[in-house]
Amino acid sequence: MQPDKDLIIIGAGAAGLAAAQYGARANLSVLVLEELASGGQFLLIDNLENYPGYPDPVSGTDLSQKFEEQALKFGAEIKNWSAHSVTKNKEIFQVQTDNGDLTAYTVIIATGAKHRMLGVPGEKEFSGHGVSYCATCDGPFFRDKRILVVGGGDAACDEASFLANLTDKVLMIHRRSRFRAQRALAVRVLKSPHIEVRFNTELKEIKGSVKVERVTLLNNKENRKYPEKVEAVFLFIGSTPQTQAIAGVALDDAGYIVTNQRMETNIEGLYAVGDVRSTPFRQVVVAAGEGAIAAHTASQYIDDIKGESYN
Ligand code: NAP
Repeated sequence: MQPDKDLIIIGAGAAGLAAAQYGARANLSVLVLEELASGGQFLLIDNLENYPGYPDPVSGTDLSQKFEEQALKFGAEIKNWSAHSVTKNKEIFQVQTDNGDLTAYTVIIATGAKHRMLGVPGEKEFSGHGVSYCATCDGPFFRDKRILVVGGGDAACDEASFLANLTDKVLMIHRRSRFRAQRALAVRVLKSPHIEVRFNTELKEIKGSVKVERVTLLNNKENRKYPEKVEAVFLFIGSTPQTQAIAGVALDDAGYIVTNQRMETNIEGLYAVGDVRSTPFRQVVVAAGEGAIAAHTASQYIDDIKGESYN
């Protein structure tokens, strides 16, 4: 049976779009499925200053559009459809979408990861009313206000630095005594005159009437709770990989998809790339590279299936 496509890519972030470009350029018929707009985590990045070839900062949205443009130029197709499940029958994958089933020889999972919630009282109630998970999206609403940032990783440090351009009253708390973030990002935060950092501090409750007005913090060294006035709470405490659609794929302890260095999962013909993959360093440049590798591996696998191998 001839499937609908050589390659279906689920997710149109940096990894998925890079895979689409490489796949299409290798003459595969490529379809990218993306439930929202193309871009993934790209869309949350205000200024990307570490993407090679761009010495001046580029916005995530602009770079994502270029990724998409390049994939389309080489013949990839992108549909705003949601993929619900991926199953395999003999050599063919079946991808169930909200617009019917599709088939392909290979599938690349590039579904990324979604922000994690802290689960403290007030978080859900004030979400959209002072509680946010995206500084680029919501930061401008809190210009010159006192803002609380929670987290100690790259995202928290990056976003705190962004918020420090909007207000000189950023309070950043982290539950441990040191940041987990890359040194360059952590140092920028620690040196900023607009950011006050409190280590060994946890957020316990968010309070207010209609919108956020104050929080309860805990100094976990002294086991001391105290109130703090803030008008917004930005939470950057990591993310959860989006793997729900794929039954039977091997995951690591944290729930990320395990692959080898060719981006192959435990299921032949199924690859994983970008933030959904078990990897030590989640960066746009890494995601793009993984997309290229997966498309190349998929292309060789399809050649083998079709009997067109030339090496
Ligand atoms: P992350 O690296 O997993 O860091 C999450 C942070 O949140 C950690 O400091 C963690 O504390 C803290 N945390 C987790 N659960 C918590 C809880 N229940 N209460 C309080 N704090 C909690 O996640 P991320 O910062 O979102 O980054 C995700 C990936 O994207 C990383 O691979 C990162 O390198 C990449 N990224 C890169 C950049 C960049 O290079 N510019 C920017 C953003 C993201 P502990 O330290 O105690 O575990």
